[in-house]
Amino acid sequence: MSVAAPDTLDQPIHSAMPELARGTATLARLGITTAREALWYLPFRYDDFSELRPLGELVPDEKQSARATVAAIRVEPGFGRRPQRVIAQLTDDTGSAEAVWFGRRYVERRLQQGDQVIVSGKVTQRGWRSQFTSPEFSPVGRESVHTARVVPVYPLTSGVTQKRLRELLARVLEHALPAVDDPLTDEERHGLPALDEALRTAHFPEDAADVTDALDRLAFDELLALQLTLAQAREARAGLKAPRIAVTEVDRAKIVAALPFTLTDDQATAVDEIGADIALERPMRRLLQGDVGSGKTAVAAVALASAVRAGWQGALMAPTEILARQHHGGLAPLLEELGVRAEFLSGSLPAAHKREIHDAIAAGAAEVVIGTHAVISAAVEFPRLGLVIVDEQHRFGVGQRAALQAKGSGGEPHVLALTATPIPRTLALSVYGDLSISTIRELPPGREPIRTEIRDRRALPKIEAFLASEAAAGRQAFVVVPLVAESDALQVASAEAEVERMRTALPQLRVGIVHGQQKADARDATMTSFAAGELDVLVATTVIEVGIDVPNASVILIEDAERFGLAQLHQLRGRVGRGRHRSFCILLSDATDELPLRRLEVVRGSNDGFAIAEADLELRGAGNLLGTRQAGLPPLRVASLFEPRHVELAQRARSVADRVVGTDPSLTNRPLLARLQRDFAPISEDGDAA
Ligand code: ADP
Ligand code: MG
Repeated sequence: MSVAAPDTLDQPIHSAMPELARGTATLARLGITTAREALWYLPFRYDDFSELRPLGELVPDEKQSARATVAAIRVEPGFGRRPQRVIAQLTDDTGSAEAVWFGRRYVERRLQQGDQVIVSGKVTQRGWRSQFTSPEFSPVGRESVHTARVVPVYPLTSGVTQKRLRELLARVLEHALPAVDDPLTDEERHGLPALDEALRTAHFPEDAADVTDALDRLAFDELLALQLTLAQAREARAGLKAPRIAVTEVDRAKIVAALPFTLTDDQATAVDEIGADIALERPMRRLLQGDVGSGKTAVAAVALASAVRAGWQGALMAPTEILARQHHGGLAPLLEELGVRAEFLSGSLPAAHKREIHDAIAAGAAEVVIGTHAVISAAVEFPRLGLVIVDEQHRFGVGQRAALQAKGSGGEPHVLALTATPIPRTLALSVYGDLSISTIRELPPGREPIRTEIRDRRALPKIEAFLASEAAAGRQAFVVVPLVAESDALQVASAEAEVERMRTALPQLRVGIVHGQQKADARDATMTSFAAGELDVLVATTVIEVGIDVPNASVILIEDAERFGLAQLHQLRGRVGRGRHRSFCILLSDATDELPLRRLEVVRGSNDGFAIAEADLELRGAGNLLGTRQAGLPPLRVASLFEPRHVELAQRARSVADRVVGTDPSLTNRPLLARLQRDFAPISEDGDAA
């Protein structure tokens, strides 16, 4: 194993491959500036055009490839709004078909009567003949990356076409693959393909059957990067000591009694488990999981009050400013009842105010600090940090958690992570290793369950009338627009179109919009104004999935619901039903196939996040090549921990990581592994774009 020639992979593409000319700028739009980034820019799907169909056997409504002769070609000029069309008559021994392109002059230049071509694309039936609509094509003998093969489909952004990106990536790969060195030994690879081969196949598979192995190899590398970080953290933590936070039974009982409600059994168990952990010298690493509204915050309040009563400081970190404020709003009064003062700290506070809080923390006067990652900024010195609570821990990178831990002075602080995304136990163990888990399954008493219905688009007018009547009664609604895997830009466009539609259909309503391409400030401002009741309807992409608490919202409408994961639908539904109003979740779907409807039926029939997560695992099965991002788990790009095969890979990665880190903790002798770890570091700097 030698060290890779870093120049080839990490040089800016514009200097390494000047022949790409303007292609460099195209790649840059997708965040690809080096060959290494190009190698890891993976397709999210593949279209199999590898089989050539005789024209006489084309099937309508499927994507297919054919080899044919151009019998005739003509151009129909456009007029009015109708674009110019190029129409080719295709023939082979078995029959004929038509290919049509709209407004594509270059087609006319590149195709001539008598040419042999391969066309790949979707076929529709037009009267008595089959028609390829805007197919990819290439002359026979010069098969391109677009036709007659398994074709990768990449995520795009505006101004970049699938075809252009494919061509560019093919060229970059050709240049870069020879420079790829395998960071793994043969033994560590354990039968998976070599890295260069896996990357080549993941982009341009010779055979669809090879894709799974290739992606497994890439998934393994990603999981190994994560496990290396975890193994190093374990290694660094071994022998570290946390403060013993001893709270007497009597004190704990007093704290619990001061709460404005009685803890549920699950809450009480969690409080006991945490109490037992923090009384030990070993630093606590515990995950508290429970559905939205299950009362995790109350448990956190008891833990914080206990730490303070024992003479320690506590901190709570949330991934965004708006969530941190909400936590402060919910926790501060509870803590006050328990006799504890909680300060709010975020980067956006005026400098003088921030300094005051820093001073109060340093003097030990601030007993609990609630905030964003500003809490771990270097300027903050806790003299007696005993307990740290991290909310929605999946949005914090391992690195940030490590930084937080380094803040402890009386030793390593105890850490409790809160998450509303249930993680099946085996998964949590394979990802987080030595994390302990407390689970709240039952909701506090007196909650009215959210009513969930499945509707198709024909019901939209009725649904809109319902939104209007809820708004007239003073309630608010979320509208979640469809996921568009191909591109963020498309999703934003559909959100904007939806806002237009709502404003036209319901002019009396105040409609706002939030999406992931807005600046965080703008997004927070809109969410805040929705939370303040200044908007009736909030149209959103999935950015609302995490956290926002608007008790007055009583309806959530989720469009094209079948495109979402079940756990995600359940998360989204948790945005309503947080107040005293009867709440509704409408799953809009025009799906007619059995499986998607069965999946939606699971969500409709259950309000139990754990049951839903398990059903999701079961129904997913194999066949989804690329893992979707799962909330509650580290943001994995290739691996999916809902894929049983990958859970096994994670376990194997863990043992490889333990072995390597055991003898070489800083990976001095394994620079390629160190590099891999850095490339995949599951750290989100702003806690926002994990
Ligand atoms: P989570 O943090 O899990 O989303 P919260 O702790 O914010 O849930 O609790 C949701 C709501 O339920 C809050 O208004 C809280 O005061 C209330 N609550 C929590 N625990 C109980 C309980 N045991 N009995 C009654 N109400 C409770
Ligand atoms: Mg909460």
